[in-house]
Amino acid sequence: MLITHARLVTWGQPNRILEDHALLVKNGTISALGPTPELAQANPDEEILDAGGQWLLPGNICAHTHFYGAFARGMAIPGRPPRDFPDVLRKLWWPLDKSLDSEDVRSSALVCLVDAIRHGTTTLIDHHASPNAIDGSLDIIADAVDRSGLRAVLCYEVTDRDGKAKSSAGRDENLRFIQRCAAEPVAGGRVAAAFGLHASLTLSDESLDACRRAAPTGSAFHIHVAEHEADEYDSLQKSGKRIVDRLLEHDILDERSIVAHAIHVDGREMELLAETGCWVSHQPRSNMNNGVGVADVDSLLRMGVRVCLGNDGFSNAMWEEWKTAYLLHKVWHRDPRRMPADKLVQIAVVNNAALAGSFFPEAPLGVIQPGARADLILVDYHATTPVHEGNLPWHIVFGFHESKVTATMVEGRLLMRDRELLTLDEAEITAKARQRVPAVWERYNQNVPPD
Ligand SMILES: [Zn+2]
Repeated sequence: MLITHARLVTWGQPNRILEDHALLVKNGTISALGPTPELAQANPDEEILDAGGQWLLPGNICAHTHFYGAFARGMAIPGRPPRDFPDVLRKLWWPLDKSLDSEDVRSSALVCLVDAIRHGTTTLIDHHASPNAIDGSLDIIADAVDRSGLRAVLCYEVTDRDGKAKSSAGRDENLRFIQRCAAEPVAGGRVAAAFGLHASLTLSDESLDACRRAAPTGSAFHIHVAEHEADEYDSLQKSGKRIVDRLLEHDILDERSIVAHAIHVDGREMELLAETGCWVSHQPRSNMNNGVGVADVDSLLRMGVRVCLGNDGFSNAMWEEWKTAYLLHKVWHRDPRRMPADKLVQIAVVNNAALAGSFFPEAPLGVIQPGARADLILVDYHATTPVHEGNLPWHIVFGFHESKVTATMVEGRLLMRDRELLTLDEAEITAKARQRVPAVWERYNQNVPPD
């Protein structure tokens, strides 16, 4: 396929904006780029997708999300409102994830995948929990991802909160799915596996060790760290150590690991995150919603930590997350110089692409260059002021919007064209979700602990 008359944003180093360019896509990768007349002349028989002057960028990447959370939208929490994050877990997420059966897991994932295609997010790193439907849950999500045509990294959140049997079942689910992905390409190689752990505060030393022993060499652990200070207090109580020290002692953290949040880590823990080479995922919308504080992203970056951007189950609209980060760090530090938009490019474009690429190493992700994967989006953005490489990040923060995404492509296959979904039936997925949710909410209400 030849995509013509596009304004290319390469997100290369350095980034380039190329006017009226064309992109030749073959076998799922970008095989050439050049001025439209040249490439059109050289490839007269290619199917044409005329971008008509729209912006053509690599698809957005989400470093940390929860497909299982979609049914929480509009759900009432009974009794008094949760007073802090541990209360949010007890009153919202834990009773909700217990209420999901296998078909709910599928339905919830599909709702998120529709959202991702519409909003131009082409790779998602998911962290799944469904304590009453653990076995095979990652296959169900993989099947949904396969149908969608998107790219994803999946894992199951191991936790001791529901007893030993479910902790072991979670561990086994990760192991089984990691082995499946090693044995065969899942979803045509568009699905990879990580090893999920919920958080230090719901994992005993025995469970951490059991997961370490179970995880094959080279597995990537994906875990929430210090989202709230309660996680640190719990770790100090259990082990006399802060969380990052504790996880290191159990050999959980290395250059493959994904640490979500890292809000309440201290200076030494930040150093350890840098020394181990972990990925740290930042989720500003979720952090604001839960009132848990703000990660010290500037310090983490200055120490050399590879900070990425996730959405923690908020909408799969990653520029919303850019905008939130852009604003949050300014008000938090009372300093309008904080979190400039070009820093967000480092986090959400460069680091997210490197993280996603570590799971799909055969070809580069998140960049437009010959040989890179054709995971692309078209954006119908009409700039009313000049745009160049230097100010593009500020155009994204102040002008781009996910509603302007008109086409989404993964590995050369169009998943949406002219805002029409081509792989998923949105009306059917929406109807099915709305049909399933009342029973989920009813079970949720029975599962919520009394105040
Ligand atoms: Zn999370």
